Amino acid sequence: MRIAVISDIHSNLPALQRTFEVIDHLAVDRVYCLGDIVGYGPSPNECIDIIRERCAAVVKGNHDCGAIDELPLDHFNIYGKSAIRWTRTHLTETNVEYLRRLPMLRVLDGVTLAHASPLNPEDWQYIFAWPDAERCFPAFSTRICFIGHTHIPVIVGEDGSVNTFREGLRYLINVGSVGQARDGNPRISFGLLDTTASKFEFMRVDYNIEATASAILAARLPDYLAQRLFLGI
Ligand code: ZN
Repeated sequence: MRIAVISDIHSNLPALQRTFEVIDHLAVDRVYCLGDIVGYGPSPNECIDIIRERCAAVVKGNHDCGAIDELPLDHFNIYGKSAIRWTRTHLTETNVEYLRRLPMLRVLDGVTLAHASPLNPEDWQYIFAWPDAERCFPAFSTRICFIGHTHIPVIVGEDGSVNTFREGLRYLINVGSVGQARDGNPRISFGLLDTTASKFEFMRVDYNIEATASAILAARLPDYLAQRLFLGI
């Protein structure tokens, strides 16, 4: 089975549409989403509509919680805060209800899905590398746990290895971000797992950043949220 794992869309509609264009060419059996569908960007409802239609499993991110008042504004930085306020006034009631019902963790098809961490996911800890990653392994029982939240793609093995994927080892994999890259590479990032061949790869894809940036400015969200997309920060 081929599984695409996407995360951190952040209301970036051109990036999400482009992601599914690519996924549709990859003969993927299932798509999972690790949350932060909304926040920062100008198209929360459009992005939720696509995710609910196309994804077989979705977990809740901290920005999803913020947008429906389940997490206080002081959890977010100044740009996150103003985007959360904006999102709260624009979400439809149906989509508020959709976000409210999302689980914090899912286990299916031999993988675990969490937004920030499988260990106390409601603490929204940022897991970049060892030793934080080490503490996550006892918290999941599948071979692989997929996470997002940092927007930095990385594969961490239970032996402490980084960015290799070998048969027989357990892995914590951050798939990176669809809608707001932060690793200096402004392209979309998502993961592609082939469970039959036991292969995993990161996909990096260009999208129309100009279109998202213009929509951010038109929505009167902070300019910085548009500028950072070009830099991948
Ligand atoms: Zn995020």
